[in-house]
Amino acid sequence: MSRPGPLFNRLALIGVGLIGSSIARAARAQGAVREIAASARSAATRRRVAELGLADQVLETNAAAVDGADLVIVCAPVGACGDIAKEIAPHLKPGAIVSDVGSVKGAIVRDMAPHLPAGVHFVPAHPVAGTEYSGPDAGFAELFVGRWCILTPPDGADPAAVERLAALWRALGATVETMPAAHHDLVLAITSHLPHLIAYTIVGTADELAEVTRSEVLKFSAGGFRDFTRIAASDPTMWRDVFLANKEAVLEMLGTFNEDLSQLTRAIRRGDGDALFEHFTRTRAIRRGIVEIGQDSPAPDFGRSHAGLAPLPRPYAASEDNQ
Ligand code: NAP
Repeated sequence: MSRPGPLFNRLALIGVGLIGSSIARAARAQGAVREIAASARSAATRRRVAELGLADQVLETNAAAVDGADLVIVCAPVGACGDIAKEIAPHLKPGAIVSDVGSVKGAIVRDMAPHLPAGVHFVPAHPVAGTEYSGPDAGFAELFVGRWCILTPPDGADPAAVERLAALWRALGATVETMPAAHHDLVLAITSHLPHLIAYTIVGTADELAEVTRSEVLKFSAGGFRDFTRIAASDPTMWRDVFLANKEAVLEMLGTFNEDLSQLTRAIRRGDGDALFEHFTRTRAIRRGIVEIGQDSPAPDFGRSHAGLAPLPRPYAASEDNQ
């Protein structure tokens, strides 16, 4: 990672949880911004942000935080972003770039864009990096290193503003890709949203079996279940908003998934070993492709924290999630 010098004078972060605090830490570590102003919804979070020294100024209102900022990044749950845009709009500096980090992009454009005044540049973004933890203590400066950040500038966006934001994300360690918001939502529906839905489902199903098997479920969780529990521990507010905001794309992918699941169910019922073998061979090749392009480690997965084994160093243990 190179140190480009400050790319922005004043960065305003609205919401300082896992993602907002990771941006603050990484921007500081890289000297990518001169100063950081921050606001969060609750006094408790604002107090913690001040204690951790994550921002030069911690403001009580979102309007005060954006005052004089040349870059504003809204790091709140997707469902809150429309109201935040409305609240900050009259206080934005002309020429400022307004962005976000929401896991869904179509709904962000729909909810935020109508409130933003002419003369500010709206460039939505989604860093595809995260963990199952929340809040300002959960962030770390390396979260975005080697991860993708997808920008979804609306038609007619100023290319210079898009490039300035891309330069910031590159300074934080991410690789930047640009695509239309609707395409982003389709891609993330299958790579992130559906896997989370499946994890939430399977962990809930296992919980319903709990009377008979609770101790066995926990004891033998290394047989695949453990990975689902990690994903299913993700923030309920964030994921409620993701499914409400990306309803169409998730339902489309869920339809295809259900058809494939029916095919595998039929193969098991009929004892069709060839069909199962063929399917599992195809999916194994997909996993190898992910390792080859550096999006995961080829190391066997026996090193995560559980009884008797030491946890991996935090950034490596925690940054492998998709979001
Ligand atoms: P988080 O840790 O729960 O933090 C959310 C922050 O937003 C908190 O500081 C919260 O303040 C603040 N907030 C909520 N409503 C607000 C409002 N109306 N005005 C100002 N601040 C408000 O969540 P996160 O994981 O950082 O997620 C933030 C965004 O990043 C979401 O849109 C999510 O889709 C996206 N994202 C998440 C991940 C991930 O893995 N978690 C990855 C990529 C993108 P309080 O603490 O005071 O409530």
